[in-house]
This record gives sequence, C-alpha cells and structure tokens, in this order.
Amino acid sequence: MSARTPSMIQAYVANSLAQAHLIKGFLDAEGIFAVVRGEHLVGLAGEIPITMDTLPSIWVGPEDRERSRRLIDEALRHPQVQDDWTCAGCGESVEGQFTECWSCGANKVGD
Ligand SMILES: [Zn+2]
Repeated sequence: MSARTPSMIQAYVANSLAQAHLIKGFLDAEGIFAVVRGEHLVGLAGEIPITMDTLPSIWVGPEDRERSRRLIDEALRHPQVQDDWTCAGCGESVEGQFTECWSCGANKVGD
C-alpha cells in the first residue's frame, strides 16, 4: 500500500511555521519536493510544551537529502527567513524567529 510512497526523511526542524514554509519555498524553487509536517500541532502551542516533536519540520525524499541540506543552510542565511516583523497589535518590531510579539503576545499575522 505504501509502495508508491517514498519514505521521506526529516531534513530540518524549523522554529516557526513561517520559517518552515519559507524553507519549503526555497526547496520547491530548486525542484526538491518537500513537505512540512507538524503544522497542525502549532495551533496547540501554548497548551502543550514546545518540543522537537511539536515544532514544524521539513521532510524530503532520501535522494534529495544532501542537496536539501545545503539549500537549507543557504536558506537559513537568507535574510527573508529571519526577517523581523512588525506587530499589528502594538507596532513593536519582533525578531523573525518569533511567532508571537514579545511585547503584547499577539500572533504574527500574514506574511
Ligand atoms: Zn505586539
């Protein structure tokens, strides 16, 4: 039943859903099929402890393992991935790796 489903490997554990999708975008652009897993758990953050199991992760096919590793390294150096964002609630500038405003606790909205 799973014969046609490639067994994917975990390429990276992102620290936010936004980062996960940005990295996925980088891989997509290079023709690497990648999926984000764990995003359904992110909505529960705050109710359950954040661990490696609850953070969104990026999975790729085993044949793309080495290439995706290099591309993810590149993606992490790209300013877009760590871009600061401005809180819609209070106007404070928040570092890109955070998904909540440090000042008022509002969630990052949009992209
Ligand atoms: Zn705020």
